[in-house]
Amino acid sequence: MLVHAARQIASLLFGGRCFLCRGTSHGGAVLCTPCRDDLPRLSASRCPRCALPGPPDAVCGRCLAHPPQYDATIAALSYEFPADVLVQALKYRGELALAPLLAELLAAQLAGEAAVDVVLPVPLSAERLRARGYNHAMEIARALPLAAPLAPELCARVRDTPAQSDLPWAARARNVRGAFQCRDALDELSVAVVDDVMTTGATLDALAQALKRAGAARVVNWVVARTLPPTDF
Ligand SMILES: [Zn+2]
Ligand SMILES: [Zn+2]
Repeated sequence: MLVHAARQIASLLFGGRCFLCRGTSHGGAVLCTPCRDDLPRLSASRCPRCALPGPPDAVCGRCLAHPPQYDATIAALSYEFPADVLVQALKYRGELALAPLLAELLAAQLAGEAAVDVVLPVPLSAERLRARGYNHAMEIARALPLAAPLAPELCARVRDTPAQSDLPWAARARNVRGAFQCRDALDELSVAVVDDVMTTGATLDALAQALKRAGAARVVNWVVARTLPPTDF
């Protein structure tokens, strides 16, 4: 029903044309079948903790050396063309009709994963939310077929920081430290955190830290796309 409604909206907005190649898309889908089939799927063999490619089901050397605060990461796409086009159009250009497509791609990866107690979209600061008018992570989260309640009020972004994308990788952890504040007494809850892209993981690590401090037992990242690190990282 939700998918059907989303397709009707997409069809109105995109006129039955594929968002990427402008070719005909069938049934009002956002993408035509070839563009959808060509999306850069993430390798099935990846670290369960940070989702970077590696030996199957083995925690990678980086996560062993510097264990992140989050316990696991589920991701659907590799953040490269044209996944980046879709994510940026939702995030910066208000193409909200892309959210159900991105959520559907993410949901396909969540089948069979452990249940969570609550789902939290990565919060924007009040100021950024006002400027943008919507939280793209919230748009993705609410289009997911969720068994657990969506709880955007669980944490707030209390400190606005320069956009992570403007910073070199090494500076990003420093930039987000202390940016989130969570309600106390998340006693033993298992929390899924939804975001569009995971790059260094610094933002998600800072949020997981705040959640764990407030008592969460387990934090799992659900992200649409994962950036592969630069080769010199
Ligand atoms: Zn296409
Ligand atoms: Zn890892």
